[in-house]
Amino acid sequence: MIRLVQVRMEYTRGVALDDVSFELRKGELCFLTGHSGAGKSTVMRLIHMAERPTSGEVRVSGYSSSTIRPREIAMLRRKIGFVFQDFRLLPDRSAAANVAFALEVTGTRRPAVIRSKVNRLLTHVGLAAKQMALPAELSGGEQQRVAIARALAHDPLVLLADEPTGNLDERATNGVFELIREINTAGTAVLFATHNLELVRRHPEIRVIELAHGRVVFDSANNGGD
Ligand code: ADP
Ligand code: MG
Repeated sequence: MIRLVQVRMEYTRGVALDDVSFELRKGELCFLTGHSGAGKSTVMRLIHMAERPTSGEVRVSGYSSSTIRPREIAMLRRKIGFVFQDFRLLPDRSAAANVAFALEVTGTRRPAVIRSKVNRLLTHVGLAAKQMALPAELSGGEQQRVAIARALAHDPLVLLADEPTGNLDERATNGVFELIREINTAGTAVLFATHNLELVRRHPEIRVIELAHGRVVFDSANNGGD
């Protein structure tokens, strides 16, 4: 469903990715690890088609970075959910309004449909009782749950989670990780970028791709996981 083929990404200041190839299958869960600056966020942006590779190809759900048109990028993004380290919620809107906003921008208009879907999504992430809270009234873990509910609003095929636990303590990290794992079990593919090696080591059953200086230095799918 997602395939990177010999992807190279150069910025004016240097090379962010060099000869990166891997495939993420439908419904798969995979960690993307590596030190800060290794290229994890660049991989995420390329899958989101926010940028195009300098050379090589990124294929996502039938679209290719070599041929995709701007109009198609909007279509593709409806199949992708994105969560970030810093949550990126609208600070002056309630949890429910943040999720509703995502539904509205993708074309859901009927208030009753929006209300029921928002309620279902926030219940799913364990926040049924806090729908009216503003982001500042929620803990970091709760804010990330709202961001996850928002990312799931349009039923994406894949969730791109870029250091989603980077601002969270251990307990909130585990809670958010377990939620993301449940979402994956329900069928959504997940690419989970993290430099939290502790979290990765605790889950040896989950595939890991490790980047260093823009190259794939390990992929447990090709190395038997040990
Ligand atoms: P990670 O997410 O693993 O910390 P990044 O993908 O953010 O790594 O960065 C990989 C490399 O690319 C770094 O050297 C970074 O400085 C560089 N880089 C990332 N984005 C840009 C950009 N927009 N312009 C220039 N260099 C960038
Ligand atoms: Mg990053």
